[in-house]
Amino acid sequence: MPTLNDLALGLPGYDADDLPVDVARAFIARMLPRVQAVEHLSLRSSLGRVLAQDIVSTIAVPPQDNAAMDGYAFRGDELRAGEATVLTVAGVGLAGQVVGHAIGAGHCARIMTGAVMPAGLDTVVPQELVQRDGDRIAIPAGAVKPGANRRLAGEDLARGSIALHAGRALRPADLGLVASLGRGELPVWRRPRVAFFSTGNELRSVGEALDEGCVYDSNRYTLWGMLQRLGVEVLDLGIVRDEPAALEATLRHAVENADVVITSGGVSVGEADHTRAVMARLGEVLFWRIAMRPGRPMAVGRIASQGREAVLFGLPGNPVAVMVGFYTFVRDALLAMSGAVVRPLPMLQARCTAAIRKRPGRTEYQRGIVSRAADGTWQVAITGSQGSGVLRSMSEANGLVVLAHEQGDVPAGSVVEIMPFDGLV
Ligand code: AMP
Ligand code: MG
Repeated sequence: MPTLNDLALGLPGYDADDLPVDVARAFIARMLPRVQAVEHLSLRSSLGRVLAQDIVSTIAVPPQDNAAMDGYAFRGDELRAGEATVLTVAGVGLAGQVVGHAIGAGHCARIMTGAVMPAGLDTVVPQELVQRDGDRIAIPAGAVKPGANRRLAGEDLARGSIALHAGRALRPADLGLVASLGRGELPVWRRPRVAFFSTGNELRSVGEALDEGCVYDSNRYTLWGMLQRLGVEVLDLGIVRDEPAALEATLRHAVENADVVITSGGVSVGEADHTRAVMARLGEVLFWRIAMRPGRPMAVGRIASQGREAVLFGLPGNPVAVMVGFYTFVRDALLAMSGAVVRPLPMLQARCTAAIRKRPGRTEYQRGIVSRAADGTWQVAITGSQGSGVLRSMSEANGLVVLAHEQGDVPAGSVVEIMPFDGLV
């Protein structure tokens, strides 16, 4: 395995002290191991988990041609051009039943949505389009075309086709699709286990008294929430004081019990030295200054203890920087380690309601509130203070305005890209 330093030197544009976001992301994508163990879970327990193998359809869905509407089934080639088609009703097809006898020429069958098409019949006319008189129906000229309102066998899934590809994070529709094959369990990758802790002598946990000069530890709650949403297993290791022995002991415990270790705090210029020394004892950790705001300092590495190895993400301590760093680097990394095929998040485009100051040469993430303008288009307003310690701005926002590396000041009314916080599924 190449050292991280070798890997870094092979990356165009790599500069640890002024690292473009894209280069940092590319580096992380290359250094990640994958969780290898497979678990077999019931359908409902598989929601959100990553599929470990392709799922091949063992049956056709639907199994037979069937009616898409309530109406009358008949032979499409009996439709008359320019005049009504008159047919005699000679059977009834209800959902879950098959018409047992043959329907002859000049005849049709009453049929309900989902019922199997009687042999030889290929077209359904909806009941509201026909006139019925006793056992005869008249289909007005031009009411339907041959083959209309019939669902074909296998049109949802052909037998032998791949219903779901490995690497897919399972969504509600996927569970339904697998159930439609009559299958009740799925092979999924084991979830990565993620240990996390906060560092800082000034931190107090909720429920404790707030001593002078101290702040409550909020990062363990935002991190916990973001990790839960990703569906990984989490291990909260609490607050660690800025003392080498305490840091080393907690890092060792984390590595021995998790695939990934996330720390917050202790990587900024003023504090990096002692953190660097401890982390260097456990493995190879690179300390970066990333061309981004917020979230400039960050450490990334591989550390080991007692024969176990883990990926380390040392995020900065500022509460907004933790979240932005997580979404920019850690989220995709955890998805990739989970075995998921990682695709870029869909971004929204919106006009900014006011000018935004932006310095070229770094990626900036501003907290924005996206809404519909009176003309129906999307607009975005930046929340108040963008300080990296102002967590309220993340709470108020419904998306991050992402201003690209090269971008300069943004005039009011320009279209900007937004990473929305909310999604449908
Ligand atoms: P650091 O990266 O350790 O220098 O911390 C930067 C700033 O973030 C300091 O003001 C810290 O007090 C604050 N901070 C660090 N960790 C946390 C935390 N877990 N919760 C809230 N604030 C924090
Ligand atoms: Mg600190």
